[in-house]
Amino acid sequence: MDRLKKIAIIGLGLIGSSIAHATRRGKLAAEIAGHDASTDVVERARVLGFCDSLHDDVAGAVKNADLVILCTPVGAYKSIAREIAPQLKRGAILSDVGSVKSAVIRDVGPFVPKTVNFIPAHPVAGTEFSGPEAGFASLFDGRWTILTPVKGSDPGAVQRLKSFWQALGSQVDVMNAGHHDLVLAITSHLPHLIAYNIVGTAHDLEKVTEGEVIKYSASGFRDFTRIAASDPTMWRDVFLNNRDAVLEVLGRFNEDLSQLQRAVRNGDGQTLFDWFTRTRAIRRAIVNTGQDVPSFGRLPFQVYIPPKKSKRGKKKRAKKPSAGKPKKRSPAKAKTKKPAPRKPGKKR
Ligand code: NAP
Repeated sequence: MDRLKKIAIIGLGLIGSSIAHATRRGKLAAEIAGHDASTDVVERARVLGFCDSLHDDVAGAVKNADLVILCTPVGAYKSIAREIAPQLKRGAILSDVGSVKSAVIRDVGPFVPKTVNFIPAHPVAGTEFSGPEAGFASLFDGRWTILTPVKGSDPGAVQRLKSFWQALGSQVDVMNAGHHDLVLAITSHLPHLIAYNIVGTAHDLEKVTEGEVIKYSASGFRDFTRIAASDPTMWRDVFLNNRDAVLEVLGRFNEDLSQLQRAVRNGDGQTLFDWFTRTRAIRRAIVNTGQDVPSFGRLPFQVYIPPKKSKRGKKKRAKKPSAGKPKKRSPAKAKTKKPAPRKPGKKR
């Protein structure tokens, strides 16, 4: 892709700062301009140094930018769009990273001048951490970014944005916003709702103390707590703005849960076994397509190094260069097949 003269990133948390880091890594823009509503975040971004210019006013940040990316919670988009619209450069691309897309088109679309290319986008990559310190350049490597162009979007501009995301390390798909919202409702939004629910329920159970919830969380519950630690503002906005699709998949989920409940009540082992066999195959398919890595790809400091073959052809143990001491693997986990190793800097 052609190097941009200026990119403006609005909202300097996990996703915004990661875009800045990855833009710099790829030398994709001469100037990375940043803005955040929080002066504290702007100051922290200044210390971290991932932007070339930081602006207290959003209008100043977007001025003369070739590409403007909204990286705030989606609930803030409407007022930002209203404020920046008159400042957007002719021919610029206005995009975003919001986890919902129809509502973004509804909220931002009406303010976008005809001379500007509005192309919503969603990088399907993230962690449960927030804020400018949480960002890192490889967040998008090998992950998918979905573009949802609006009616009349200029194909040339869509291609430019696609090239930009590819240069950030991402694979890119294009689909319509409604389809995106339905797909993400089942793959992302519902799992978060379930995680928030199960962790809340466990915490509320009178017979289980908080101490026990923490002490015995080494099994499946721990993964739920990780997801349930995700940013409350962002996820509130996701559920407020993808209501129909979430309710649709929640209905299906409840029906399936009733079926499992019936199987448990009736001691119907065959139904349970068949169900779990099917879901295990889904998990394997996700791992095989490279969309998961050890630690679920959530901890940026954990890099998986594949086992090296010794001269005698035996596999040496994998080295784990993690932040702390490597944790012991449980016997059950030790038996599980390792996912395909992630090659840093390479697309999967
Ligand atoms: P984040 O770490 O909380 O960062 C968001 C930043 O935006 C915060 O610094 C926040 O400041 C700032 N902000 C809020 N309102 C603003 C406004 N009106 N103007 C300028 N800045 C404003 O959140 P994130 O995880 O990066 O998420 C940002 C967006 O990415 C969301 O739309 C989300 O749907 C999408 N997304 C997230 C993930 C993920 O896994 N986290 C993945 C894909 C897409 P304060 O903290 O002071 O409010």
